[in-house]
Amino acid sequence: MTPVRAQIRQAPAPAAPAAPAYDGRSAFPHGRQRLTAPAGHTALTATIVLAPFIALGAGIWLAWGRGITLTDLLLAAFFYVVTGLGVTVGFHRLLTHGSFTARPWLRVILAVAGSMSFQGNLIDWVAVHRRHHAFTDRPGDPHSPYRYGTGPGGQLRGLAHAHAGWLFTHEPTSAARYAPDLLRNDPAMLRISRAFPALCAASLLLPFAAGWTISGSLYGGLTAFIWAGLVRVALLQHVTWSVNSLCHMIGGRPYGTRRHDRSTDLWPLALLSFGESWHNGHHSQPRCARHGRGPRQIDPSAALISLFERLNWATNVHWQPPDVLQHHRTVGSKHTLRTSAPASRESIGLRSRGGPGEVFDPDLRTATASQR
Ligand SMILES: [Zn+2]
Ligand SMILES: [Zn+2]
Repeated sequence: MTPVRAQIRQAPAPAAPAAPAYDGRSAFPHGRQRLTAPAGHTALTATIVLAPFIALGAGIWLAWGRGITLTDLLLAAFFYVVTGLGVTVGFHRLLTHGSFTARPWLRVILAVAGSMSFQGNLIDWVAVHRRHHAFTDRPGDPHSPYRYGTGPGGQLRGLAHAHAGWLFTHEPTSAARYAPDLLRNDPAMLRISRAFPALCAASLLLPFAAGWTISGSLYGGLTAFIWAGLVRVALLQHVTWSVNSLCHMIGGRPYGTRRHDRSTDLWPLALLSFGESWHNGHHSQPRCARHGRGPRQIDPSAALISLFERLNWATNVHWQPPDVLQHHRTVGSKHTLRTSAPASRESIGLRSRGGPGEVFDPDLRTATASQR
């Protein structure tokens, strides 16, 4: 979902792009054009993507014959859950889509936890993800697996692009355009965004310190650093990226979405992604706090938001009314992957934004601070 960028772009918003002619099957216009990122950015991204796997090899070597301690596994699970929910509940459902209103201290905790996932600073994360919703699976989408067309070769190349390849391209998303609410009116989120590098360091140092303290040995700190630090980061990153890649290619589409949007529900990733892999349900109603709509669609992020609501830490939660859910099921079932059409905006009480040539997702949180 996100680039790995430490700087917050404050450049003025560019003019709206002209409406591209796109038939839903061809490669994106200019999609094959090579967009070379600056060398420094490429090196940093490569380090963040590849280093955890080098660490995994080192970790297995270190653990060979000695085993991995229970402490390492428990610390890895703890940091995976905390940072993962920081991304899904904090970055995604709270800050990107405004699915609920959180107490200020909870908002800060969620933003800090998400920032420790090595998925980019929160304002860039939000901007990129809003752009993904605004241009889903058509030209303008930062990480669509349909970028190179729907032929077998194009699909494979597109899958790699949507998973992690897009991180290595240089197609900046303007935070001023897609996340002005956070950039201009939310000093706490701006500070946390700027603290992204420090929070990344903390994300690795905390498991190291905990492992050292619990085991009483430097070696214990080192194995915790590898398993609960780097390997945990790698796992969460690839689960998140799989929502961008696999959850637009494989799985069911029970709900109606906008034209060209090919988001899917993919059950095998539901638990590891904390409910984010019910991606078709999410794209059909982006602001809904629950992505798993069916009775057996487990959604831990929604369960946590529900708990926050009961504790009165979260208010104004956007839960989907059952009648609207039924309507979406009906609309969705009438369309196939290739021909799906959006549910009518009016039928679900959504308003439109943007003018000709630009389609804004009506649920995007690009509005003023008064709406928070
Ligand atoms: Zn998506
Ligand atoms: Zn979203």
